[in-house]
Amino acid sequence: MNELILCKYGEIVLKGLNRGSFENELMKNVRRRLKPLGKFDLRSAQSTLYVRSLDGNADMDEVMDRLKKVYGITKLCKAIGVEKDVEKIYSVAKERYSEILKSAKSFKVSCKRSDKKFPLTSPELAAELGGRLLEDFPGLKVDLFEPEVTIVCEIRDGGAYIHDIPIDGAGGIPVGTSGRALLLLSGGIDSPVAGCMLAKRGVMVSAIHFESPPYTSERALMKVERLAKKMSEYCGMINFFTVPFTKIQEEIRNNCPEEFFTLIMRRLMMEIAQRIAEKNSIQAIATGESLGQVASQTMAAMVTTDAVCRMPVFRPCIGLDKKEIIDISYKIGTFEISIEPYEDCCTVFTPKHPKTKPVLSDVEAAQGMFDFEPLIREAVENTSVKTIRAY
Ligand code: ATP
Ligand code: MG
Repeated sequence: MNELILCKYGEIVLKGLNRGSFENELMKNVRRRLKPLGKFDLRSAQSTLYVRSLDGNADMDEVMDRLKKVYGITKLCKAIGVEKDVEKIYSVAKERYSEILKSAKSFKVSCKRSDKKFPLTSPELAAELGGRLLEDFPGLKVDLFEPEVTIVCEIRDGGAYIHDIPIDGAGGIPVGTSGRALLLLSGGIDSPVAGCMLAKRGVMVSAIHFESPPYTSERALMKVERLAKKMSEYCGMINFFTVPFTKIQEEIRNNCPEEFFTLIMRRLMMEIAQRIAEKNSIQAIATGESLGQVASQTMAAMVTTDAVCRMPVFRPCIGLDKKEIIDISYKIGTFEISIEPYEDCCTVFTPKHPKTKPVLSDVEAAQGMFDFEPLIREAVENTSVKTIRAY
């Protein structure tokens, strides 16, 4: 049987002259994700990517699973391709669905004809196929509104395709079409969600993590790496930077007023992240902050962090409630890892009474009590990088 997977494009179809480059990027991403599963023929036509296994023995469930996580695809389904001939279409549909139809009570055939040269209209073909199925499976009833089984038949330029109702894909636009951002990745719930939200809009995401051994453990770092690996099922390959942050945190504690600890730490994180971004041709910074979630995420606090920023800072979770962020983290599979109880450098030396309405000049004065520049340089120099990918 000529089995394949149809992946329907989302917003790509709205693109004008540069649609080709979006399609190319999508093909590249799909090819990379499927490479470990065998050889595949990929073809793009009529706003759809046709994915066929060339060895014939690929695990098509696993292929579906990976394609569900590729941004740029809105709907997908396993299908059987057949010649555009009513007899052949019927015999394939009957064979493919006979087991299911034997135990079902109701069904419906839904047809779509984009090849207008095909002699039957969509309703005519649906009536023809449905009528024959009723004859061959006498226990069945047609139910157009709540059928137990829906058989879809599409008549396209390249052939007829028989399949179930397509399932939802990841949506968005292909990773690699919107530039690069450096995500401040903690071990929490929010930042992995922020990273995937940006990837969904085509951004290639790199991650930067600040660690403070011995206050934070090796296992805490491993947890963040596992988060990045999970994210990469959606984001593709992630360049993962690890910054040694202990000395900086200790000097903040030793030299600056406690109420500003977190804000100064954030500003220094931003400074280091920007230097790493600049060295690596990354155009923007991203965080998992959500407005008003904690003291360091009030608007006044963000004003003091953004004052040290020379590049755009994206905060995709800014308008989401915690519950909404958690829903997304479940969906992308990071939630279970995020809730593992490991320490983060942010929770070391947290002030008892953080300022929720800090004034920029006060924060600058507090930070000015110590010259952090040599430590910033040292941290940037000692930052390590590795590539992380799920497959
Ligand atoms: P998250 O769930 O993403 O950890 P949070 O609600 O716990 O967020 P904070 O811990 O205040 O919030 O962190 C706010 C943002 O700062 C995070 O979303 C992340 O982008 C960044 N961040 C915090 N700690 C680190 C870290 N150790 N390394 C890199 N980025 C960090
Ligand atoms: Mg956190």
